[in-house]
Amino acid sequence: MKLAVIGTGYVGLVTGACLAETGHDVTCADIDADKINQLRKGIIPIYEPGLEEIFAANVTKKRLHFTTDVGEAIRGALIVMIAVGTPPRPDKSADMSAVFAVADIVAKNLNGYKIIVDKSTVPVGTADRIREIIAESTTEEFDVVSNPEFLKEGDAVNDFLKPDRIIIGVNSERAEKLMKELYAAFVRTGHPVIVMDVRSAELTKYAANGFLATKISFMNEMANLCEKVGADITAVRFGIGSDKRIGQYFLFPGVGYGGSCFPKDIKAIITTAQEYDSPLQILEAVDRVNSVQRMKIVEKVVKHYGDDLSGKTFALWGLAFKARTDDMREAASIYTIEDLSARGATFQAYDPKAMDEARKVFGDRIKYFEDGYEALSGADALLILTEWSEFREPDFDLVKRRLKEPVVFDGRNLYEPARMRDSGFTYYSVGRA
Ligand code: NAD
Repeated sequence: MKLAVIGTGYVGLVTGACLAETGHDVTCADIDADKINQLRKGIIPIYEPGLEEIFAANVTKKRLHFTTDVGEAIRGALIVMIAVGTPPRPDKSADMSAVFAVADIVAKNLNGYKIIVDKSTVPVGTADRIREIIAESTTEEFDVVSNPEFLKEGDAVNDFLKPDRIIIGVNSERAEKLMKELYAAFVRTGHPVIVMDVRSAELTKYAANGFLATKISFMNEMANLCEKVGADITAVRFGIGSDKRIGQYFLFPGVGYGGSCFPKDIKAIITTAQEYDSPLQILEAVDRVNSVQRMKIVEKVVKHYGDDLSGKTFALWGLAFKARTDDMREAASIYTIEDLSARGATFQAYDPKAMDEARKVFGDRIKYFEDGYEALSGADALLILTEWSEFREPDFDLVKRRLKEPVVFDGRNLYEPARMRDSGFTYYSVGRA
């Protein structure tokens, strides 16, 4: 099939490359000319494990093309996938301007039947609005489908190629049939294509992210309670996770959830619910708990050193919002650095993949190191903010020698508290004595 994917960010690029991988002819379009130029030169502007290989293979096979001419991409395609950003607005609702701008361009370039597929995370009712926008300008036939994306950064290619499920919100048999054909190669092993009405599909995405964020905030609150009552959140996690109704996944306490999805999606669905006079009280609490949790590591630093941190230097291991990505959006490192630097602290940071993105956020306000151990030299303490695998088994003797004092604030529970104590570290983690 001939496909256009509009927006070549984390979702659009992975979607385009993975669909090309199954033989479809995909044109990826973006208004960001720099991005398209890079992609045409074979440079992938994001870090996503496994993407480089399928990107290169499908460019070589001439199944994956890039353009800034969004209209041309639309005219050449049977299925047009919208994968542009829906960032938060100041009032916390989703900014839909990019999605509706694409709908406008679709309207002007509809040269025959097409399916417009919304992969962006969008408030309920968006597909209806897209349909109205297009219908105002054309008499051509078209369908609008909601096909929310569930990939997670760091494992996006794998998630796309082997999805737990594919959700298709559709109100036309013709579109349903074509959408099932589009995804046929991805569900051969039995993972379901779940077909539903459009509004339910739109809400499913927010409900999924809402539930996952709830698990995180729940565990963070339990971890905080563990610290007060002298319990160990790791034991509690195993204890509850072995109940099949609960499960072991997504029960890790830490520095609060971040990234480009959970914070904005939780706020957006809360806003939608308020508009419909049906408040989501649990998610309102989840959002509040997360704001508090982000600052817990700062609280521990301040409790250890006092309020005035002038003259203190902290080594940071990890800047990205989570491991296996370079994405800095809503990363815990941002909140931590802002708060501690307002108290006078300075920073020496290392992240395996997010240094370029971090430079865009912090500029030269922090020092960057190409090696984790070098970032430790002369620092007063180490703060761990991202759970990169390479931080899990460091040379603790070297860590101790490089730091001024052996103090570690671990926002990701990477180490055993007893082992750290025995090695002479003052060790702070989350929800453990
Ligand atoms: P992103 O910011 O990485 O990419 C968005 C891209 O869209 C950018 O390259 C931008 O230049 C382009 N764009 C903006 N306006 C455009 C226009 N009018 N025409 C063409 N291109 C335009 O965003 P993302 O992380 O890929 O997220 C895209 C959507 O997918 C969002 O709604 C997000 O909530 C959702 N989503 C993201 C993830 C994730 O892990 N990142 C997962 C599932 C769903």
